[in-house]
Amino acid sequence: MLVRAGGKVTVVSPELGGELEKLLQKGEISHLKTEFKPGDVGDYRIVIAATNKRDVNQAVYEEASKKNIPVNVVDTPDLCSFITPSIIDRDPVQIAISTGGASPVLARLLRSKLETFIPAAYGRLGKLVESYRDRVKEIFKHNSNHIRGFWEHVLEGSIADLLVAGKDKAAQEALEKAVSAAKVPEDIGEVYLVGAGPGDPDLLTFRALRLMQRADVVVYDRLVSAEILEMVRRDAEFVYVGKERDKHAVKQENINELLVRFANEGKKVLRLKGGDPFIFGRGGEEIETLMEEGVSFQVVPGITAAAGCAAYAGIPLTHRDYVQSCMFVTGHLKDGTVNLNWSALAHKGQTIVFYMGLHGVKEICKQLVAHGLDSSTPAALVEKGTTPQQQVHIGDLQTLPAIVDSTEILPPTLIIVGDVVKLHNKLSWFEPSGAKPLAYPVSN
Ligand code: SAH
Repeated sequence: MLVRAGGKVTVVSPELGGELEKLLQKGEISHLKTEFKPGDVGDYRIVIAATNKRDVNQAVYEEASKKNIPVNVVDTPDLCSFITPSIIDRDPVQIAISTGGASPVLARLLRSKLETFIPAAYGRLGKLVESYRDRVKEIFKHNSNHIRGFWEHVLEGSIADLLVAGKDKAAQEALEKAVSAAKVPEDIGEVYLVGAGPGDPDLLTFRALRLMQRADVVVYDRLVSAEILEMVRRDAEFVYVGKERDKHAVKQENINELLVRFANEGKKVLRLKGGDPFIFGRGGEEIETLMEEGVSFQVVPGITAAAGCAAYAGIPLTHRDYVQSCMFVTGHLKDGTVNLNWSALAHKGQTIVFYMGLHGVKEICKQLVAHGLDSSTPAALVEKGTTPQQQVHIGDLQTLPAIVDSTEILPPTLIIVGDVVKLHNKLSWFEPSGAKPLAYPVSN
């Protein structure tokens, strides 16, 4: 492996085995025919000890460490300042898998999995692309955004498929054609208004993920989990415009203006929102401004909190035996009251989902009962739904406020009212791991 990677290898050993002997004959390695002795570490770039003598390995390790030369003692993680990961080689593409010494077998298993679904053609793809790199850089006058855009477009197209099918010549011709036709694009910004779902990154849509990988700048809310932000292109600029209840970090008008400004600078702007952008997300207001300013945009729906929390809490929002309709309403308090059409809500045979209802829970339960619902109507409060910290608090219109009062509850929370809540006992399936959330990034 060292020779193949272009290393100049010297083997220190009283004898050489068959394979090493052959490499020596071919002039690919040098040989010091001697036992290891102090000083042999010399000024090599890296040192690997692979003897079956612990004291020799130890001596090599110590001498190399003293000289700050990276050293690896085979199969002895304690005596390694670096480790050699398992490698998937699609030269020039390389993927290294390491378990930090915890389980080489696990690394090998992963490797065999990845081997099977990374086509061998990706090596040839890498080489083909490499042969055009300089030309493409020239065409786009070294503007890294344009270069990236070009390659994204090309690599998401059919060239890789042609290579996988063994049609190398056709692939090369297709790339030649694409490169010949390439020209510097006008810097046209665009806004992607993307729903990031309720928290679990697995609930992102494919399209959301694709656009997250393409963004130059991401403008995100408090509801977007750190786990999801991890999946945004690393080089993107991160701008936090989160809101807390009654505290607006950045005013809505300013967010709208910010999106327009970034897009007019020619940037791909990812506006990432919790849940679905058109459900209590003010997505409509944001694109209205974009429309007025002539900025192009696209909207990607997300799994809204009601759908996500209901699924992960085992509470079907509709069920033939219980309900015929489901309402999504905001429980946000204005001047201490929740301003809703209570008589339209308080129907048996209807599930009601309250977004932003935590602080109004007392009022919500009171009004529903005052407008005709039984105080024994089941009600659930789902805390941090779909995340490893999810908690489901079950009660009824009578008991829920007291449950909320006596429990430490962290936002975001969703309230579900209706007979379907009874099904939670039977249908609950999701077992949150309780793992701590990732630390939230600070906007840059
Ligand atoms: N556009 C979002 C809703 C934004 S309003 C969507 O479609 O889901 C914010 C409210 O959504 C929160 O106050 C809370 O009621 C609800 N919410 C969002 N994510 C949630 C989650 N993971 N668990 C529980 N409630 C959530």
